[in-house]
Amino acid sequence: MSGCLFCRIINGEIASRSVFSDDNIVAFKDLNPQAPTHILIVPRKHISSLSEAGDGDAQVLGELQLAGRTIAADLKLEGFRLVLNNGKIAGQTVDHIHYHLLAGRRLMWPPG
Ligand code: 5GP
Ligand code: ZN
Repeated sequence: MSGCLFCRIINGEIASRSVFSDDNIVAFKDLNPQAPTHILIVPRKHISSLSEAGDGDAQVLGELQLAGRTIAADLKLEGFRLVLNNGKIAGQTVDHIHYHLLAGRRLMWPPG
């Protein structure tokens, strides 16, 4: 997906501050952090949203969550939140599936 922002970050066309990378997943700091720790966890495969994910994406979807676990452990986060915005009305602005990993302050519930 040549026009996709996260595909361009993944292939190095656009710089980012990487915190994790393996064969299927990359994670980097959010440009506009909403918490002291705000990391985006993204599959290398372009999947536009959870609604567009197929049954064949189960492995990589699990790997996204486990990358969140690994990053949280590496950063010794006491608690954290993984958020996936699906669709414009839910706040999705980049159409390449991703989790937000948020930590470092008390997180309110319900979210806005
Ligand atoms: P969404 O709103 O789709 O759930 O999340 C997209 C996130 O991408 C936002 O939190 C936004 O701050 C972040 N973002 C947008 N453009 C860039 C960029 O060029 N680099 C990085 N690192 N994050 C970005
Ligand atoms: Zn993409």
